[in-house]
Amino acid sequence: MEDSFKHKGLRSKLVETIIAKGIKDERVLNAISKIPRHLFMDSGFLDHAYQDKAFPIAADQTISQPFTVAFQSELLQVKPGDKILEIGTGSGYQTAVLLELGAKVYSIERQQELFKKTSKFLPKLGYRAKRLIFGDGYKGLPEDAPFDGIIVTAGAPFVPKPLLEQLKVGGRLVIPVGDNVQVMTLFTRKAEKRFEKQEFGDFRFVPLLEDKN
Ligand code: SAH
Repeated sequence: MEDSFKHKGLRSKLVETIIAKGIKDERVLNAISKIPRHLFMDSGFLDHAYQDKAFPIAADQTISQPFTVAFQSELLQVKPGDKILEIGTGSGYQTAVLLELGAKVYSIERQQELFKKTSKFLPKLGYRAKRLIFGDGYKGLPEDAPFDGIIVTAGAPFVPKPLLEQLKVGGRLVIPVGDNVQVMTLFTRKAEKRFEKQEFGDFRFVPLLEDKN
C-alpha cells in the first residue's frame, strides 16, 4: 500500500485537470489531491489511476471518474459534521472524499463482494465511516435518517421516494436520473413538503439496480 512521490505528482496534475473542467470548491480539490486513488483500483489498472476516467472494479462495477466525484461532492456542499448517506459504496473512493470533507458517512452497497472488500480496505487507509451497510439503496436508511445530504453514485431510473423523505429540511439529494444517460439532479428540501429541483447536465453511470437479496 504505497503512495509515492510519483503518485503525488500525478495527483496534482489530475487536480489541475478537474479545475480546468470547472471544479472550484477548494475543500473538494484538497480531498482529491490527498486520496491515493490508485489504491482503490485493481493492480492491472494502476497506470490509469490518475487519468480523469472511470475504471472497472470488482463485480462489473466501476470507480467513478474523478471529475464526476468532484462535481457531485461540490453539489452536496458538505459541512464538517454533516450526516451524509451514500448509495453505492463501490470502491469506497467517494466515501473517502466525503470523510475528508469531515462528514459522518453512512454508505450502502448491494454487491456483497464489493461490500466485503471495501469494508476491509477503507479502515486500512484510516477512513472510518459511521456505517457501511450491505443492502438496497432504493430504501435509503430509515433507522439513521434524517440526513443533511444524500448522494447516489449509480444511475437511477427514477427518484426513490424514501431518499427524499429521509432528508432534513435544508438537506440536499444529489442523484443522476435516467436510463442510458443520466441528468445530474439536485433536490433541496426547502420545507417539510417543498422540494426544489435543479439539473446539471448529462453523465453516464452504471445502473442503480433493484434489490436481489
Ligand atoms: N461510489 C463508488 C461508485 C461505484 S459504481 C466509487 O467511488 O467507487 C456504483 C455502485 O452502486 C456499484 O458498486 C453498485 O454495486 C452499487 N449499486 C447499484 N445498485 C445499488 C442499490 N440498489 N443499492 C446500493 N448500491 C447499489
